[in-house]
Amino acid sequence: MPIHQISGCIGCNACIESCPTDVIKLDEATQKAVIKYPEDCQICHLCRLYCPVGAITITPEKSIPVMVSWR
Ligand code: SF4
Ligand code: SF4
Repeated sequence: MPIHQISGCIGCNACIESCPTDVIKLDEATQKAVIKYPEDCQICHLCRLYCPVGAITITPEKSIPVMVSWR
């Protein structure tokens, strides 16, 4: 699971608005962000970068290796 955890959310909505694939939703009851569709995560890190409190953790297990240049 690329996006791994949300902990310490203050419900600002920044991650929800920044995610291009709508992985994160706001829980109506708690007014905090929840990982709704983790299988759609593209590991773009936008949610993590926009979160003002560093609440989002992304696992590196599906990250794309850096390409080597052609000779
Ligand atoms: S890493 Fe990108 S695709 Fe994955 S949940 Fe965050 S914003 Fe969405
Ligand atoms: S950006 Fe961070 S604080 Fe804001 S809703 Fe998302 S997880 Fe919560």
